[in-house]
Amino acid sequence: MATTVKLHLLRVGACRHLECMAARGGRWAMMDFPALCGLIQHPTRGWILYDTGYAEHFFTATEHLPERLYRQFLPVDLPPAELLTAQLATLGLTTADIGTVIISHYHGDHIAGLRDFPKAQFFALRKDTEQFLALTGKRWRATLQGYLPGLLPDDFLPRVQAADDCAQVDLPAWLQPFTSGLDLLGDGSLLAVPLPGHSHGQMGLFMPDADGRPVFLIGDAAWSLPFLREGRLPSRLVAMITPDRRRYAQTFRGLQQLAVKEPALALLPSHCTVAWQEYLHDA
Ligand SMILES: [Zn+2]
Repeated sequence: MATTVKLHLLRVGACRHLECMAARGGRWAMMDFPALCGLIQHPTRGWILYDTGYAEHFFTATEHLPERLYRQFLPVDLPPAELLTAQLATLGLTTADIGTVIISHYHGDHIAGLRDFPKAQFFALRKDTEQFLALTGKRWRATLQGYLPGLLPDDFLPRVQAADDCAQVDLPAWLQPFTSGLDLLGDGSLLAVPLPGHSHGQMGLFMPDADGRPVFLIGDAAWSLPFLREGRLPSRLVAMITPDRRRYAQTFRGLQQLAVKEPALALLPSHCTVAWQEYLHDA
């Protein structure tokens, strides 16, 4: 039996863009893309985050060109009550209570709050960290790919651990086609699952027992649960800027199979309001 964890799913800001970008055949209408992050309470390891969503640092990092293009292209709404620090305070927590941040991938809307957690250790897949660090100093290239290296804490390197170095374990057979995970804490409670394509080393997080049910946080491997269930990939324009289209489609098809055959599994994309509401409703 895996250790039971608790999961709070928090909305930390949002951006808006066209539905037809999120799914082929989608409407030419603006759609809300919340930045969701997972706040996990582990019985012995304390408080852990899966991504951070947006933060004030995002606005500092995108003040000047070329980074300013990022926020012009994807306007961000971050009301004070949605700040992660404010939501933690509501739960009686301070930023120092967060001991670990699991980074799905390094896009600005997933890591903007890293600087707020001075005590945290970070987990990411090695390939993703290497590709992100290789963009340091290449401001235009980084921006055009959705990366803002200025968001990294100055002492990031000694604090990041490659999830790849954790023990590899078999996933439950019903999770096929995903067969193996990386046991981040060594107790089977948090299993990192590579979901390549959207970025080279994107990391999903499977929790066999989050408050009594299985949960799979899937980052940006799909943007919308309803579109995933229907097997509708993002637009061809988005495909053009996806680093590995073939692997993206492969990951997406695998998740689609799961979404259809395992309705009891909470599959949670980082930016899907429907999945978030279904999760809260079933809690
Ligand atoms: Zn992304």
